[in-house]
Amino acid sequence: MATSVLIVDDAAFMRMMIKDILEKNDFNVVGEAADGQQAVDIYKEQSPDLVTMDITMPEMDGITALKEIRTHDPNANVIMCSAMGQQAMVIDAIQAGAKDFIVKPFQADRVLEAINKSLA
Ligand SMILES: [Mg+2]
Repeated sequence: MATSVLIVDDAAFMRMMIKDILEKNDFNVVGEAADGQQAVDIYKEQSPDLVTMDITMPEMDGITALKEIRTHDPNANVIMCSAMGQQAMVIDAIQAGAKDFIVKPFQADRVLEAINKSLA
């Protein structure tokens, strides 16, 4: 069965870009969220195999959402999507259980490498 993925980013074009990379590589995108709270809610409904999580978002940021998801499911596979200059937040996220991180602008090869590594 195809790996199910929840894509989380407040920017619609970023979600579209990740979705495009994933669907071209046979992943099954089961949900999209535009903020951390939506991400937590959809995670609880769908239990996806993997989450790509933006850091800076309104309502609830990606690190808080990561922590809530990991509290709900300690085995959750979450990859953080960061921008340049967010190294400190990436370290926080890794300490909170994120499996890996990818840096914007995304390169398809790097996205797939991070995903495959986190699922291995
Ligand atoms: Mg953002």
